[in-house]
Amino acid sequence: MAPVVLVTNDDGIHAAGLSALADALGDLGEVFVIAPDREQSAVGHALTLHRPLRAERIGERRFSVNGTPSDCVNLGVLGLLREAPALVMAGINQGANLGDDVTYSGTVSAAMEGTLLGVPSVAVSVENPDAGYAEAARIARLIATRVLVEGLPPRTLLNVNVPAATPKGIRLTQLGHRVYKEKIVEQTDPRGRTHYWIGGGPPQWDRSEDTDMAALHDGYASITPLLLDLTHFGALARMADWPRALTAQYKARPRGRKR
Ligand code: MN
Repeated sequence: MAPVVLVTNDDGIHAAGLSALADALGDLGEVFVIAPDREQSAVGHALTLHRPLRAERIGERRFSVNGTPSDCVNLGVLGLLREAPALVMAGINQGANLGDDVTYSGTVSAAMEGTLLGVPSVAVSVENPDAGYAEAARIARLIATRVLVEGLPPRTLLNVNVPAATPKGIRLTQLGHRVYKEKIVEQTDPRGRTHYWIGGGPPQWDRSEDTDMAALHDGYASITPLLLDLTHFGALARMADWPRALTAQYKARPRGRKR
């Protein structure tokens, strides 16, 4: 039987990029769309645990959910569909999701959630949504086909970004890093109270080659494999003497002091 493919996003069920992605994947399997009922960009990996989730069936194999992208993936993988999906595709997001910003992204987080649930997952974003989603949809379909055949390594997802102009090709990249120069913008409202804006200007990035940012800058689509194990194994070795010293300090608690 044709594999089940789950498509979701963070721009909401009515976003053009979502339909473009679902349409492009239509002949690869049985495509189900489960997406938030409203825009959920920059919600990160949030899950809804303290209110009921509703999945409204708004079309054939199409559900609108009053929750986050990660909620949608949970519902799809853990019970709403006739069988667990063979692939989770998130996007096509309006705006790139690059480098250090990926953990803010609802799109990338949806793919993280799929990965944590054991399903190969891919996030797809375009730098310039005004240029349309046709090229990104073609690239997404090619990558999805490959992932369905080859699978992905354990705990690994793909973060795909497509440049503003028609891509010259496709590069494998690593995450770039932001250069923080701006400050928060502090303003005073008409009632004299202070408020703040973060994320004021366009982000600046380090100039390293081989990054996702550099690929887009050079006009290439970017595929970054991300590993969902945040353990720093090098630091484990470097900190090897911490437990003994910290334990000794902890046990040397001064007597007689209340705590
Ligand atoms: Mn978005």
